[in-house]
Amino acid sequence: MIKEIVKDEAILSQACEKATADDASVAQDLVETLVSLEDAAGLAANQIGETKAVVAYLDDDDNPHVMYNPVLKQGLAPFKAVEACLSREEEKKVTRFARIQVAYQELVDGELVERKRKFEGWTAQVIQHLIDHCKGKLI
Ligand SMILES: [Zn+2]
Repeated sequence: MIKEIVKDEAILSQACEKATADDASVAQDLVETLVSLEDAAGLAANQIGETKAVVAYLDDDDNPHVMYNPVLKQGLAPFKAVEACLSREEEKKVTRFARIQVAYQELVDGELVERKRKFEGWTAQVIQHLIDHCKGKLI
């Protein structure tokens, strides 16, 4: 179901709870909402009002991917960037890593499976933004 984007800081500033396999419907709503938006590259569950550590992002071909409980394991080549957020009015300056390694879980046949993956460039930047959302951290 397509949800409305949350802009309430009281919700967005809470650290999200660990997501489980029972949060598949949250992930589904997240993907449906993300692909419905113009100019959106990623969305965290608390941005649709669910304070669970689930995020969705679009890859370079605009295909959606879901990550449960993403954690930044390594970041290389920091740089300064100006970012926008669907939940914020103004753009902000942030420091991001150009290359990252992320540990997360993926739902496979109803169970969460551990994954570890490297990302770089724009996708890496989007994922760092989303991991911050899970911690209740806004740009
Ligand atoms: Zn954001």
